[in-house]
Amino acid sequence: MNEDIKLKILNKIKEYNRIIICRHIRPDGDAAGSTLGLRRILRLTYPQKEIYVINDDYSRDMAFLGEEDAQREDSFYTGALIIVIDTGSEDRVSNSRLGLAKEMIVIDHHIEREPYGAISWVEPERSSACEMVADFYASFKDELCMDTEAATCIYAGMVTDSGRFRFESVTGETLRLAAMLLDKNINTQKLFAMLYLDTLSEHKFHAYVLNKLKLTKNGVAYIYISLDAQRRFGLTSEQASNSVAYLNSLKGSIIWIAFIENEDGSIRVRLRSRFVTINQLAESYGGGGHAQASGATIYSLAEMRGFVRRADKLIEQYKSENDDWL
Ligand code: AMP
Repeated sequence: MNEDIKLKILNKIKEYNRIIICRHIRPDGDAAGSTLGLRRILRLTYPQKEIYVINDDYSRDMAFLGEEDAQREDSFYTGALIIVIDTGSEDRVSNSRLGLAKEMIVIDHHIEREPYGAISWVEPERSSACEMVADFYASFKDELCMDTEAATCIYAGMVTDSGRFRFESVTGETLRLAAMLLDKNINTQKLFAMLYLDTLSEHKFHAYVLNKLKLTKNGVAYIYISLDAQRRFGLTSEQASNSVAYLNSLKGSIIWIAFIENEDGSIRVRLRSRFVTINQLAESYGGGGHAQASGATIYSLAEMRGFVRRADKLIEQYKSENDDWL
């Protein structure tokens, strides 16, 4: 699929000596894995080129996959190629110097709001951006090099963004590409331990979330995590944000939301669903994402209540028109 565009991307990569790879702010496994994985593939394949992953923010949770490169001065970007991966809109790219580069390529699996980049390879039906990087490698595997390190980064993103290969977006092709990566000797025991083991305080926080969650009439499960609660459990905002995953398996609750208070008083919204599509709801609050995993930022508890009401209406409508939900 999209062989032409992949070839164009490969040719651009060949054309440039300095390539800077970027991802979205607040990186998850897919953003970190896809950028670090592609960096490794390109460094192995083109040792004479300068290949960097440069972003303005940092994720402690994903640092085990590898360190990114330090931010550089403006002139460093002159004449460089930027490759942005896993980022649905330009304003979410974690690199304020983006515009200084000569050209930009976008590789992404979000529902596209406004196309950007000279070459834009976007497939929203893909389970992860890492799946696209794996597919890119598979298309040119006689030419590109991959090792255990690259495979581990890319596999990590495929595993995390697909809910461990459970989501509807997972296809036969996803698993064939994952199999190709596993053949590179990934240490899955270590990888899954790094990804999914929690500290005792995180487990206690999990219990707190289950005790505190609220459920609307039609089945929206939601939780508000104040800064105060984050401090009480000694959590980073990244750890507090994981609370959305604790709400994901309640029967009949087909939309669930974690609202996390940010340091500046704004509220991060992490929105998830089964069966029902929720990205338009996120978009109407200036956010976006995927059909069943989206996010936004809101600015007050009143706005939060409105958000929950609208999510509840979405469920009400969905349940009145469908009977295949659980
Ligand atoms: P998160 O809850 O942060 O994991 O985000 C879920 C999905 O929604 C990801 O694919 C994000 O890129 C996207 N997303 C999250 N927040 C926003 C936002 N404020 N604007 C646009 N997309 C977002």
